[in-house]
Order: sequence, then C-alpha cells, then structure tokens
Amino acid sequence: MRVINFNPGPAAMPLPALERARDELLDFQGSGMSIMEHSHRGKVYEAVHDEAIALLTQMLDIPATHQVVFLTGGAHQQFAQVPMNFLTPAHPSADYFLTGGWSEKALEEARFYGTPRVAITTQGPDKRYTRVPTQAELRVDPSAAYVHFTSNNTLFGTQWHTFPEVGDVPLVADMCSDFLWRKFDVSRFALLYAGAQKNLGPSGVTVVVASKEFMARGRQDIPKVFRYSVHAENNSLYNTPPTLAIYLARNVLAWIRDLGGLDAVERRNREKAALLYAALDRHAGFYRAPVERDSRSAMNAVFYLPTEALDATFAAEALKAGMAGLKGHRSVGGIRASLYNAVSVEDVRALVSFMDHFVKTHG
Ligand SMILES: *Cc1c(COP(=O)(O)O)cnc(C)c1O
Repeated sequence: MRVINFNPGPAAMPLPALERARDELLDFQGSGMSIMEHSHRGKVYEAVHDEAIALLTQMLDIPATHQVVFLTGGAHQQFAQVPMNFLTPAHPSADYFLTGGWSEKALEEARFYGTPRVAITTQGPDKRYTRVPTQAELRVDPSAAYVHFTSNNTLFGTQWHTFPEVGDVPLVADMCSDFLWRKFDVSRFALLYAGAQKNLGPSGVTVVVASKEFMARGRQDIPKVFRYSVHAENNSLYNTPPTLAIYLARNVLAWIRDLGGLDAVERRNREKAALLYAALDRHAGFYRAPVERDSRSAMNAVFYLPTEALDATFAAEALKAGMAGLKGHRSVGGIRASLYNAVSVEDVRALVSFMDHFVKTHG
C-alpha cells in the first residue's frame, strides 16, 4: 500500500517510473543483468545516459551554447564547486542573494575561495525569511564573478516567480527544489544546479546545466574532478557516474514526456498550489501561512496551526489518514506540504479535504 507522500526530499517519485524500474530490475532489456551491473563505458548504459540528457535537452529547449552535466555530491558540493571554479585572485567577489538557509550555506562555502558579498537578504528580525526580493531592490556589483541565488527556498516555502535581472553578470542558481516545475529560459543562466531528489529522481545525482563558455572559463589550477569543464568535455563520464540514479532520472523524464511535457506539468503544479493556498486562505483564522503572497512557493507550502501541539496532532492524524511527510523542517517547525511533480492533483485534493475536516474537529 503506497501512501500519499508530501516529503520535502528525498521525495515522492512518479509510480510509473518506479514500476518501470521494478520491471527492468533483474534483466535490463534482455541483457541478463540490471542496469547498475553494466559498465558505464558499455553501449547499454551509455544509451540510457544519453537518453536522459536528450530528454532533458528537449523538454527544456536547452540551447547549443549550454550543456547538461551529471555530477555527484548534491547541492552542498555545488555550494563549494561554484566558487572553487569561478572566484579568482583577479575576481575574488561574487554577489549572493540570501533568501533562506540554503543560500546562507552557499555563501559560507564561497568564503573559502574569495570575498563574496551579500547583495541582499530578506531575513526578518526573527531570523525567518518570508519573501524573496523584488527586482527594484536588487543592486548587483557589475564586477562580481557571478550572482548566486536560490530559486525556491525549500524550508521557508518561498519562490522566485520571476528570475532576477543581473545585467551582464553570470547568473548562477540553486534550483534543487523547483527544477522542472515548469519550463524556463535556460539561456539566462550561466550555470544552474539541482540535486535530483526533489523533482527528478532519487538522491545521488546532481544535474548541472551550464554555458559551455562559462565552464571553460573555470580555473585550471584546481583538481580535475572539481572542474566543470572536465566533466563537460567527457559527457559526464570522466569517472564512474551514479548510473542507477541517472537511470531512474531517465524514467522520471520519460514520465514527464508522456504526461505531455513541462507545459502539462506546470498546469498540474499551478492547480495543486491554487488548491492548497485557497484552503489556507479559506481558514486563515486557523492555519497561518507566513509567506507573503507574491513569494508563495508552488513546491513547498509552509503553514502553522494555532499551537505547536496542534501541529503535531495534524501531522500524526494525517499520517493515519495515509498522508506522510507533512511535519515542517526542524528549524522552523509547523507543517510543510511539498507538492513536487510526482504529487498529483488528487493527492492535494485529499490533503485539502483533510485540512477542511481538521478545522471542523479542532478549530
Ligand atoms: C534539498 C536542497 C539542498 C540540499 O541538497 P543536498 O543534496 O543535501 O546537498 C540545497 N538547496 C536546496 C534549495 C534544496 O532544496
């Protein structure tokens, strides 16, 4: 029996992607072994690897100037790898937009390699973040090596609905928790990264989409394994890639294609978010949604019940009703419903009817 999974990450996977993996597990396409037992240099694995890249390239319309690279190490490695590659003695500064805990962590790692600048923070006096900045608030240092921002703040439930304009400065984004929630213009980014475990598959693979020219400009005096250019030149086969995770990402990408591509995914996601936030607004005297309206995330909805005890009761009763993963992040408490691509409109309808009922019985 599968439950409805609102986990923040690792998160729900689409059932067809899992069923396909189950069916192919012991004997991948008549090869007599599972995909994870194949050489990463063999034809069988390479076809899967290239298909995952091709699916992603098609659905995002990735231009020829850019390339998909599969890495490991998660977003945390990217926090370090970006400054390691792009901060130099001549360009020691980069601008960071702070909109949550992950962007703070990215900034911390950059300090090992240069003198990053906090270009803006939306942290409130209570240490919380309840919005992303408006374009009018942004002042970018034109000599910065890059600008780094977090497109969706998984913990606080805020999201950039319009990406920042930063002039000629290379734009770098941590897109872990909203990558593929809709189509977007990849050409605006010098580099973006996303750990797979939110919208794309299991943990273990990190997708990087970057400008080839930008990657080539990265430092050459750092170990090869940390150079984007080395992985790009080797089609993400410089060393053994996480083959099973890439195979599962391939299954998820094929599922998105079969669903009708990213336009269909976006319609579903907007409908889900509209349903959930409408419920929060309908019961605004009971559920408190701290995020400013224009910054509300379509991927992670954060809210609070009147007391911490009720937060706990809500999560426990929801679990009994077959809905898992609703407890808020330990640092902010409350409830968080993560509505990633694999969560269906029906799943959200079930949560909303549970929320309506909870108000009647506990309000
Ligand atoms: C989950 C998440 C991370 C952390 O990813 P790791 O794979 O654990 O390094 C970083 N940034 C954002 C926005 C996330 O949602």
